[in-house]
Amino acid sequence: MTADPPDLRDPALLQLAFQAAPFAMFLVDDSGSIVYANGEAERLFLYESGALLGESIEVLVPTELRDMHREHRSEYRDKPTPRRMGTNRDLVALRSDGTEFPVEIGLNPVQVDGRRHVLTAVVDLTQRVLSQEFLAAQLRDLATMRDELADLAATDELTGLRNRRAFLDQLGIQLEMCARTTRPVSILILDVDRFKEYNDDFGHLEGDEVLRRVAATLRDAARASDFVARIGGEEFAIILPETNDTGAITLGERFRQRVASAHWVKRPVTVSVGATTLNPSEPGSAEPSWHRSLLIHADRALYESKTRGRNRVCHHELPPSK
Ligand code: GH3
Ligand code: MG
Ligand code: MG
Repeated sequence: MTADPPDLRDPALLQLAFQAAPFAMFLVDDSGSIVYANGEAERLFLYESGALLGESIEVLVPTELRDMHREHRSEYRDKPTPRRMGTNRDLVALRSDGTEFPVEIGLNPVQVDGRRHVLTAVVDLTQRVLSQEFLAAQLRDLATMRDELADLAATDELTGLRNRRAFLDQLGIQLEMCARTTRPVSILILDVDRFKEYNDDFGHLEGDEVLRRVAATLRDAARASDFVARIGGEEFAIILPETNDTGAITLGERFRQRVASAHWVKRPVTVSVGATTLNPSEPGSAEPSWHRSLLIHADRALYESKTRGRNRVCHHELPPSK
């Protein structure tokens, strides 16, 4: 035998449902007075049991928003429909202790004792907002970590310069730009002279110090657009965007001199420089795959500097493009 289903029009039963609701509920009359507030409403807004009865609903609205709230309430009275309050707006409610918190509010026009009321449900969004802020902060941290990792992967640990991988990436980018235009690009490869001897005479740690000082000297002498990297043990490379052969030789000389004239404690340190230039004759004549031949030619120029006595700059022309 089954019991009769409960009659939801029974006020006692409705009151029971309100009290069991996990969110704040208010019944508000046409003048804006609270005629009923459930236990969750009192708990959420920090009121004693029964203390909200007869209060204006505006006591739950931050002071500076009360006038606007009254206006909205009178507009709602003219067009009462079940709907969310303040769509596309962040709503804030006021506790009895003066603190404010984010809320979501649902409005439902109802008839009670033949008079119009609004059944208002208020959901506390504090936890949701906190979780969203926490997630957003996590995402920001992740993005920062990703950038730091990318930076780390592109950086030479000993000198802080960009590493070989970053150099090749950048050369690819420069060659792509070059391929679209007729702007030249030059590269320099700089190799520390007789560095094995230096290590042998003063030890590896002193050798490391030389590499760091050479790196700092090159970085100081470079223009903002130049890309300075350490591409191997005692080998450095510099991309010189929009620089023709004359410019490459001049800049190669500048770097060479700056290293030679730097203050070296143990013994003078010099570099030999190999330079090469890609000079596209017309847009589309250069190809990104040419980075290999650029490096080969710069290496040959470097070899020439070494065989001609070191501490000098040699420039090798790339074969003219088609
Ligand atoms: P060259 O003038 O012909 O370039 O002579 P070199 O002695 O500089 O050339 P070689 O290639 O014979 O020797 C390079 C030396 O560079 C050998 C190696 O021990 C040293 N080297 C490479 N990487 C590092 C490093 O990270 N730290 C130190 N201290 N030495 C390094
Ligand atoms: Mg070398
Ligand atoms: Mg060397």
